[in-house]
Amino acid sequence: MGIQACESCGERFDVQEINGDQPHKPERESIDCPHCGHKTWSRSTGYFQTTKLPSGKRKS
Ligand SMILES: [Zn+2]
Repeated sequence: MGIQACESCGERFDVQEINGDQPHKPERESIDCPHCGHKTWSRSTGYFQTTKLPSGKRKS
């Protein structure tokens, strides 16, 4: 998966797919923004784990 930017709050987070290589049929699983809780959805046989990344916003 990799790094995504939340479409709600704009913060970045890392998404890891856990048990994504199982032989059974993929189901719809949520990807939760760890900053604001906004959910997006993707298909996986496992689930998605999200980790906060430092803000990509530059200080000025
Ligand atoms: Zn967010």
